[in-house]
Amino acid sequence: MNDPEDPPPPGHMTPDAFRRLGYQAVDWVARYMEEVAQKPVLSAVAPGELRAQLPAQAPEEGEPFDAVLADMDRLIMPGITHWQSPNFFAYFPANASGPAILGELLSAGLGVQGMLWATSPACTELESHVLDWLVDLMDLPSAFLSTGTGGGVIQDSASSATLCALLTARERVTGYQTNERGLDGGLVGYCSREAHSSFQKAARIIGIGAENLRAIETDDEQAMCPTALRAAIAVDRAAGRTPFFVGATVGTTSTTAVDPIPTLADICAQEDLWLHVDAAYAGPAALCPELRPIFAGVDRADSYCFNAHKWMLTNFDCNCFYVADREPLLRTLSILPEYLKNQATASGAVIDYRDWQVPLGRRFRALKLWMVIRHYGAEGLRRQIRRHVAWAARLVAQIENHPDFELVAPAPLSLVCFRHRAGDAVNRGILEALNASGRQYLTHTKVNGAYTLRLAIGSSQTEWAHVVAAWKAATSEGARLTAG
Ligand code: PLP
Repeated sequence: MNDPEDPPPPGHMTPDAFRRLGYQAVDWVARYMEEVAQKPVLSAVAPGELRAQLPAQAPEEGEPFDAVLADMDRLIMPGITHWQSPNFFAYFPANASGPAILGELLSAGLGVQGMLWATSPACTELESHVLDWLVDLMDLPSAFLSTGTGGGVIQDSASSATLCALLTARERVTGYQTNERGLDGGLVGYCSREAHSSFQKAARIIGIGAENLRAIETDDEQAMCPTALRAAIAVDRAAGRTPFFVGATVGTTSTTAVDPIPTLADICAQEDLWLHVDAAYAGPAALCPELRPIFAGVDRADSYCFNAHKWMLTNFDCNCFYVADREPLLRTLSILPEYLKNQATASGAVIDYRDWQVPLGRRFRALKLWMVIRHYGAEGLRRQIRRHVAWAARLVAQIENHPDFELVAPAPLSLVCFRHRAGDAVNRGILEALNASGRQYLTHTKVNGAYTLRLAIGSSQTEWAHVVAAWKAATSEGARLTAG
């Protein structure tokens, strides 16, 4: 009921106006989905181009939504790189989908902040439940179930999951003293030199220093070398340091290399080290039984994570982080100030996810994940992964049959790393030409020092024809650059 003495602010969006404008916004997104394939994939704007077109000051008076939506087309769209384009093969995908977008809309509509079970029981319980579903669907260890010793939580990103794992491992090894007393040094962790940069960042944040997270050598297939790991641990122990953590990867960022998890788990058991497995991109492949061999040994990890927002049709952000034993995590991150105390927390019968992550507040991300799983069903999700993996295998065959190109690393999933035999300058030239054409977007890495093209298949709209077009563009550009 409006108080005539204190009316709502001018321009307040009534439910009726929201309905009308909301339809417009949904139409806008639907049109984007229809047109994205035709757009140049990589934005071509110059630095500062958008800001030069924006007013220096924020508007004093509210503006009509139509005008703002028109500016989406006029101002914002030129500065968008189209991650949802079928010709997006860069980095790893961040594939979006209709049900996930609608899940985001519903979550935003509810505007829930789910820091405590009590602040929206459905937000917590749906999250625990959906993450338990995934344990079953991906044949993950039963210790990861919320009904077991551990449990799962949705983080914003794999970087946050890594940070939580490292922090918890640090606390476990220092008898839960460091949070209060600070670090007195000597802690060392290990990951491969191919591990994601988020490990280094987490090592900085938890105060052990990035150089005390040793970058262990890799073998010919870019997987961590267990002998080198054992040797590094021995050196550190002999020097009086305290090894505490191993970060292993299933599907590294550069080439999707797979660390030898069973052997690393043996080492961690012998040395009493925390084992975190990062499968940020690869994780959804575990939905397919035939792709599960690369996940062998995850059942012995202390913590594990994958991104539903990379390759599982769930809009960014949605990282699924599991621990085999929740007690060390909760001991590390729980703080219960007076203003958060409530009966449900006191009863001990509920999960308060604020204790499972770095920030206090949290979005209702489980809603989009739930919508995705219910919309596609496990079989629909598997189908898309299998298509991408099959296309990667077809592309690998074409590369291996091409006289001028070579495969640079095994392609167990849907990332293909290849290069022209003529050397770095030609490969750099191919990448620049392809990306400047607007017809596809690939990125690069270096493998054993050699400039390498990465073609990551995984956008929801990609078909085999798009992969073929990108490959053809690479071969003809390679021929052009080496002609004469
Ligand atoms: N770990 C691996 C293996 C990755 O490939 C990536 C990103 O590509 C990350 C971690 C970081 O993911 P996020 O952006 O979710 O922090």
